[in-house]
Amino acid sequence: MLALIDSHNHFDDGSFDPDRDEAYQRARAAGVRAQVLAAVSARLWPKLKVVAARYPGLYPSYGLHPAYLAEHHPEHLDELADWLVRERPVAIGECGLDYYLPDLDPDVQADYFTGQLRLARRHDLPVIMHARHAVDQVIKLVRRFQGVRGVVHSFSGSEDQALRLLDLGILLSFGGPLTYARATRLRGLIRYLPLDGFMLETDSPDQPPSNHRGTRNEPAFLPDVLACVAELRGADPAEIAAATTANAHRLFNLPDVPSPGPH
Ligand SMILES: [Zn+2]
Repeated sequence: MLALIDSHNHFDDGSFDPDRDEAYQRARAAGVRAQVLAAVSARLWPKLKVVAARYPGLYPSYGLHPAYLAEHHPEHLDELADWLVRERPVAIGECGLDYYLPDLDPDVQADYFTGQLRLARRHDLPVIMHARHAVDQVIKLVRRFQGVRGVVHSFSGSEDQALRLLDLGILLSFGGPLTYARATRLRGLIRYLPLDGFMLETDSPDQPPSNHRGTRNEPAFLPDVLACVAELRGADPAEIAAATTANAHRLFNLPDVPSPGPH
């Protein structure tokens, strides 16, 4: 039985409220031993905390997502600092830059992002970064915070950008988008990345893999991403599973992943 880690999802999302117990059990049955829940806004941190505490192997990350800019207030960065001390999450995020969605002021986004990078350095925590149509700008800001560890999730940039991030010690993670045949650049890139440079994610309930297109994504679909990566690399899925699980373990400093147990 493979032991996988969903390195990025939103299992606290309301779309899981009706069947979260079942979705959790399906994920366990699919070999997903741990999940990192990325927060989007201060208003939703308390719910994320409750959901993460309810199930073994779920780990919270707290932060301010750029797409939710309208909900953020400068004092949320101070509140985040309190949450980091009190709750000891495995990461800060989801944070970063989104130049794709309209009406998100780039300067205001940069203020929140740098505020979270500063907290990451102060509290020695990794950052979970969102970089949509803004990978170069994310790299530029990360460079100002030498030594900050983290991941650019659902990476969709170029090979050159990928290599620059890996040079900075930043990991990449990949999910559903990789499973679509039209994602030729991404599918080319995954073939050559070093095994210690990437992780798997679902980003559920968003970004379903191609065989679940148009439905709610969920952590149990992570093996579809694994199968895709293994196929593209011509590798044994067990090897990819072991490497990506070890990478997530190391980045988030997770306790020992609970063993599969008898079935
Ligand atoms: Zn996300």
